[in-house]
This record gives sequence, structure tokens and C-alpha cells, in this order.
Amino acid sequence: MALTAPMRAELTQHLKDLHLPTIRECFVEQSEKARKEELAYERYLLELARRESEVRRDNRVARLMRESKLPLEKSLATFDQKRLPSRVSQQVQVLLDGSFLERHENVLAFGNPGSGKTHLLCAIGQELIQRGRRVLFTACSLLVQELLIAKRDLRLARVLKRFASFDAIIIDDIGYVQQNREEMEVLFALLADRYERGSVLLTSNLPFSKWEAIFKDPMTTAAAIDRLVHHSVILELNLASYRLEASKRAKE
Ligand code: ADP
Ligand code: MG
Repeated sequence: MALTAPMRAELTQHLKDLHLPTIRECFVEQSEKARKEELAYERYLLELARRESEVRRDNRVARLMRESKLPLEKSLATFDQKRLPSRVSQQVQVLLDGSFLERHENVLAFGNPGSGKTHLLCAIGQELIQRGRRVLFTACSLLVQELLIAKRDLRLARVLKRFASFDAIIIDDIGYVQQNREEMEVLFALLADRYERGSVLLTSNLPFSKWEAIFKDPMTTAAAIDRLVHHSVILELNLASYRLEASKRAKE
């Protein structure tokens, strides 16, 4: 027995109230298909549930991607993993499953400019988002400015709380811009706040031995390194610059 017009209108309203927009859009077409193919009721229901879930998942991933501020083009698909030293390659495979986030482990990527640190961490970030994780990408210098403004406006605690809601924060290029004491202090406050509470993924051209340039005094530098390294995976990308190699190849 087919649905009468009032029944269809009522069903549409229920699906609206229940926030099932995909089922609302496709149930007519799918019921015709089910009738034609003589599908069991359960098969029909399964198809509807599957479609609603898929669209919901895709929307969530898209929302997380926008929120993360990750550059779209720096994905795993566009990253040549064969360039990585085999040890780093193995570490990356482990990181991609995302379980390090539950352990609140950090990822510290070191290497000379152009070795692919930023691209690699962004690619990992995108994969984590595909698994439904909340990720935030920020250049260290921008992050510090945001924290300073928050501190000036007495909103530092609130901003740190917002950061705490992310499973992973990617801080790009720590130590690239020379920071003054006040800037270093807010950066340290963030790292201390996240310690054992959430993962930090960072890139740096500076080895730890030069981090005093970032955190100014030896005590703070040691404290910052200690917190970061305590539960961490260190990726050493001692590679030639990808840009340099690419331009050499282009000339040949
Ligand atoms: P770093 O952060 O170490 O300075 P980037 O990640 O910014 O280096 O890489 C420099 C450029 O080279 C970027 O455009 C990046 O996309 C590209 N690149 C680096 N390594 C790779 C790689 N293994 N595969 C593809 N592109 C890469
Ligand atoms: Mg970089």
C-alpha cells in the first residue's frame, strides 16, 4: 500500500524533527528502488541508515578540516613518503593510527629548512581528522600573538581552555621568529597547560641545544624541553631540501 500525501508530509516532518536530512531527501527514491528489487524491509532501512551516517561523517570531517586551518594541499597523498629515512617512515605509520593522542604523546619534527617537516605534520593532521580527531594547525608566531592578545585582555585562561579541546595542536616553526620574554612566557604557559593533557606536534629548524634562544633562560628552556620530550616521538628529517631538489630536477 502506497503512502498517502498526508502520510508523506507527516513522515517528512518527523524526519525533519529528528534531524535526518539525508533520509528525508532519499527515502522516496529508495523505497521505489526497494519495491522494484523486492528488498527486505531491513535492507531498505539499512540503506537509509548507511546514507545518513555517511553524509554525517563527511560533514563532520569537512567541519573539522575547516576548523583545523590545515593547508589542504599538504596531504598524505601529495607527500612522497619514499623520501623519508626508513626509521621516520616506520614512526609515521604508527602515528597515523592516532593512538598516540590517547596517550597525550607529542611529536617533535626536526630537520633543516625544506626537509618536509611542515608538510609531514600537516599530512598526519589531515589523516587524524579523517579518523574524527580535532586538530588545530598554527604557525608558532601567530599562536604567540594570539596568546599575547588574550593575556592582555585577561582571556588567557579561556583561550587555553579552547586549545585544550583539541586532540592535537600543530605548532609550526617554533624558534623561527625571535621572541621576547613576554612572548616566550605565553608560549611556555600553553606548553605547560597541555602537558600530559593533550598532544603537541611541532616543527623546528633548531635542535634542542639552541632552544635557549627561544625560552631565554636555561631553567625555562630545560623545563619546556622536559615537558615536551617526556612522552614524545621525535622525527629526525635530516634530508636535503625538497624545494632545492625539485628545482635541480627541473633544470636538468
Ligand atoms: P620544512 O617545513 O621542513 O621547511 P616543508 O614541509 O615546508 O619543509 O617543505 C617544503 C616544500 O617541499 C613544500 O612545498 C612541501 O610541500 C614540499 N615537500 C617537502 N617534502 C616533500 C615530500 N616528501 N613529498 C612532497 N613534497 C614535499
Ligand atoms: Mg616548515
